[in-house]
Amino acid sequence: MANGYMGKILMVNLSDGSIEEQQIPDSVYEKFLSGSGLGGFILYNNIPADADPLGPDNILGFVSGLLTGTGSLFTGRWMVVGKSPLTGGYGESNCGGNFSPAIKRCGYDGIFFKGISEKPVYLYISKGKAELRDAGHLWGKDAIETEEMLIADLTVKRKPKVACIGPAGEKLSCISGISNDLGRMAARSGLGAVMGSKKLKAVVLDSAKKIESHNRSEIRELNEKCNKWVQFQPWFLSGNGLRILAALLRFLPIPTAMDGMLWKLMLRKWGTIALNQYSVELGDAPIKNWGGSNLDFTKEKSNNINPDTILESEVSKYHCYSCPLGCGGICKGKFPNGETHKPEYESILALSGLCLNDNMGSVFTMNDRLNRAGMDTISAGGTIAFAIECYEKGILTKDDTDGLALTWGNTDAMIALMEKMIAREGIGDILADGVKKASEKIGKNSDQYAIHAGGQELPMHDSRFDPGFAVHYAVEATPGRHTIGSQMYYEMFRLWKKDKALPGIWLMYRKQSKYKVTEKKAIHAAASSKFVNVLNGAGGCVFGAQIGVDRVPFFEWLNAATGWNKSPAEYLEIGKRLQTMKQAFNIKHGIDPKSTKPNPRALGQPPMTQGANRNRKVDVDKMIKDYWQQFGWNTDTGKPSDEMMDFGQK
Ligand code: SF4
Repeated sequence: MANGYMGKILMVNLSDGSIEEQQIPDSVYEKFLSGSGLGGFILYNNIPADADPLGPDNILGFVSGLLTGTGSLFTGRWMVVGKSPLTGGYGESNCGGNFSPAIKRCGYDGIFFKGISEKPVYLYISKGKAELRDAGHLWGKDAIETEEMLIADLTVKRKPKVACIGPAGEKLSCISGISNDLGRMAARSGLGAVMGSKKLKAVVLDSAKKIESHNRSEIRELNEKCNKWVQFQPWFLSGNGLRILAALLRFLPIPTAMDGMLWKLMLRKWGTIALNQYSVELGDAPIKNWGGSNLDFTKEKSNNINPDTILESEVSKYHCYSCPLGCGGICKGKFPNGETHKPEYESILALSGLCLNDNMGSVFTMNDRLNRAGMDTISAGGTIAFAIECYEKGILTKDDTDGLALTWGNTDAMIALMEKMIAREGIGDILADGVKKASEKIGKNSDQYAIHAGGQELPMHDSRFDPGFAVHYAVEATPGRHTIGSQMYYEMFRLWKKDKALPGIWLMYRKQSKYKVTEKKAIHAAASSKFVNVLNGAGGCVFGAQIGVDRVPFFEWLNAATGWNKSPAEYLEIGKRLQTMKQAFNIKHGIDPKSTKPNPRALGQPPMTQGANRNRKVDVDKMIKDYWQQFGWNTDTGKPSDEMMDFGQK
């Protein structure tokens, strides 16, 4: 098929061991794309409303992007989809590395699992033949050990590609994820626990089917233009320079809109760690379980997470499949004992500023340990911060914490608590399912310190700094995610350059205007959601998209790969359908769309009295209504009409 996709999925029933190929009509790809669009479509039509996320009726899908393998750039991400045990609704997470093209090279756009195996198994696809194999010898191994053992056993001509869980997924931790490429994680939504509940230890892929595109030469021409933007890189940026820039921006009453080229320069030099001190200074990074500010994580403390210092230990950079930018890195020496991944900004801030921990060596240790265990670093950091605040406020005592003194910045206690969470030991058993479930068990009004939206721990972008995050944390079908939209994301996506119906942005604006709720901002937020749905259907990287769609041509690549000739506005209509389908999934599964608002603290209720986000409040209720209106859903209930929710059976 010369249209980018493979036209087939594999459905594996782990209860009876049957494996079945299913053809997917072209019309499904035209309406839903691939990636999380196709994944969501399979889930919506096949998971019964009362399915237990950890029971046999849940379906777990590993889905490649429509553009993956077509020759286009920034399009190597794969999506895992399933009903989330963390939120009870639609669950989705994605990851880079090299696993996404491996799915398509087996001849499928997605591999789906239903049922529950009696004993641990892994799926092995080699030369187009799929079989379930015993995984008894792998059960209990960490994610990196598991991948290394499978590669050692199964490498013939080339190394197979592996996605697997660690002990956290096996122990059904609702904040566990799925690892690929030796410790990179599709971490959010708790889908590692779904894999563990199915006794599926790993998916191992080793085939070489060709992935065809409609017009490869056009894709190459588009790549050349895109690459000119990506390769532009001045030499003068420094970590301290970024901190000073952020401090200046904090005081200026008139900030400038964010251009994704600055973000690109930062990513290319440092990766996401470029944000470390920059975000603390600006008020973007939540501090002390969202109850503190940049004044609590002072310059002296945040200097320990200086990106230049971390970069001194980077021994090599790496790229995801088809990425010309390469924001990943392997570190050795200065902080870690052995070689390990350079931690991401999200992981660093969750395990440092959020807990007032300024020991960067301990962040490396915890990041590596959590990747190996297969536990989400954002949720783990958020849960440790919650436990520390409960201890500091007397809700938890040493009797509850197995003797741990959970005080702010107590690095040894944090590491010990993390180990207990991974092992589900003592207090760790309560915390291993995230802050919402933990606060329900702990009681004593501890829910006021449980910072989440719809059950998922909030990421490291403060909605009091950029209120655009607040609405996305609240309204997305996978609430509490930072990868969909914000006011800054809209500025960077530059969608108005491709869809003239969308409003452009002012280059400079008054800071106070960020906190005004307007219809225009709802249009921005809805457009971002629609676009990221398209991106996640295509397998695109959101960092690439943030350079701007007039520089990184996702819409044009889609047309060149498929031969469809759709306009950007038509693609955004597909994005709207996908967002509506995910909303409909949640409603079908009993999630009230009004129930997924972030914890009041994250909205400035009450407002901070000091620091970068002093006196800021976010009127999220109005923002949510305006957002639902943009989708044509009921503005009181968030429910799409029955007509809108008719997505057809496959
Ligand atoms: S920018 Fe970073 S995360 Fe995105 S595809 Fe490239 S290497 Fe992967």
